[in-house]
Amino acid sequence: MALVVQKYGGTSVANPERIKAVAEKVVGRRRKGDDLVVVLSARAGETDRLIALAHEVSLSPDAREMDVLLATGEQTTVALFSMAVRNLGVEAISMTGYQAGINTDRSYGQARISGIETRPIMEKLHEGRIVVVAGFQGYDDEGNITTLGRGGSDTTAVALAAALGADVCEIYTDVEGVFTADPNVYSKARKLDRISYEEMFEMASMGAKVLHLRSVEFGMKYHVPIMVLSSFTDAPGTLVTKEDEEMEKVVVSGITYNKNEGRITITNVPDQPGMAARVFRPISDAGINVDLIVQSGAGIPGRADISFTVPKTAHKKAMEIVEAVAREIDAGPVHGNASIAKISIIGLGMRNHSGVAAKMFDSLARENINLKMISTSEIKISCIIEEKYAELAVRVLHDAFELETAPHGRIEVQEET
Ligand code: ADP
Ligand code: ASP
Ligand code: MG
Repeated sequence: MALVVQKYGGTSVANPERIKAVAEKVVGRRRKGDDLVVVLSARAGETDRLIALAHEVSLSPDAREMDVLLATGEQTTVALFSMAVRNLGVEAISMTGYQAGINTDRSYGQARISGIETRPIMEKLHEGRIVVVAGFQGYDDEGNITTLGRGGSDTTAVALAAALGADVCEIYTDVEGVFTADPNVYSKARKLDRISYEEMFEMASMGAKVLHLRSVEFGMKYHVPIMVLSSFTDAPGTLVTKEDEEMEKVVVSGITYNKNEGRITITNVPDQPGMAARVFRPISDAGINVDLIVQSGAGIPGRADISFTVPKTAHKKAMEIVEAVAREIDAGPVHGNASIAKISIIGLGMRNHSGVAAKMFDSLARENINLKMISTSEIKISCIIEEKYAELAVRVLHDAFELETAPHGRIEVQEET
């Protein structure tokens, strides 16, 4: 008998029929003897609907009240689901984040789980019940309701699996697992049988929304085996797990893109110590996260251009801040571009193969896709390109690195000596 945490996403519980179908699936599993904690998202579209509703009554809704509102999406599904399970003759009990002991910090809208009191769930499991937990929500030290950021139900599930010492965390979604690229963007994308935490972490942070980034962090830190599966088919899914030698041979495992950033360039910055700090300090003070940064020589001697990217939602604010700084430090004009995309290739094998970046740049150049910025890490290469080319770039790179056929990553790049 195993202890299993399962999570079902919004499309899996979108309406009463689907809720009943998932309930049958879960009850079938329970009857085989497993103990089950089921984490649910809000119905598909519900969180968006609630956000829109808030904006109808307020231009800038209060962050605390927003979380109280958004948490209702998941509260609805856990109640309905528990009713459906009971209807099938099996004991179930729903729990909100508070009732499930999910403690977080107070960053409304993007709270981080700080601890989980497992006793309430354990007690209900010992009574033989299926425990149904509202995903995406927790409570802070003063009892305020908090939410974990969009897609956060994955994190609820993996964090619970870690805290409860579950044998596996199963994430059920609307695709059959983790693919070499978003299968809804490129039909040739291939499902991976396994992927390392590290690659999955990079893919999630570079735009593959199939798993919430922090869920991968929890999985990696507490060694939780994560299975990503379809709630609509019985296909085997993808296991997210520790890396091994086999995985290291794969040069490129996946390709992602992210259209959620905007670029800012401040031109003709005096090339003196302390200038970068002058530019970035007020941005960080405003709570804006900067991603890629590139500094290059400007046309004028003694001056430099600094380009960087920020989340699109903060682009306008960051532009205003940087324009003010530019005046203060006597820099040149500031240019902004919110129509960019970051395209990334990810793979453990990049650690010991050379020529991967060149192949990426060549392939994009052949399609006349211009690279505006480049950044690399040990197992990832990212390029900023024009937003309209994002999907094309995914297809081009997928073909170039032959990801359609397993074993993928079999490309003509040299093994480093
Ligand atoms: P859920 O509502 O179940 O949490 P999400 O919409 O958050 O589902 O995540 C699943 C979606 O992630 C898929 O429909 C797919 O479009 C997208 N996706 C992006 N990149 C990938 C990838 N590499 N593999 C699988 N799915 C991906
Ligand atoms: N309902 C939340 C969202 O739509 C959380 C989730 O689905 O994981 O972002
Ligand atoms: Mg999701």
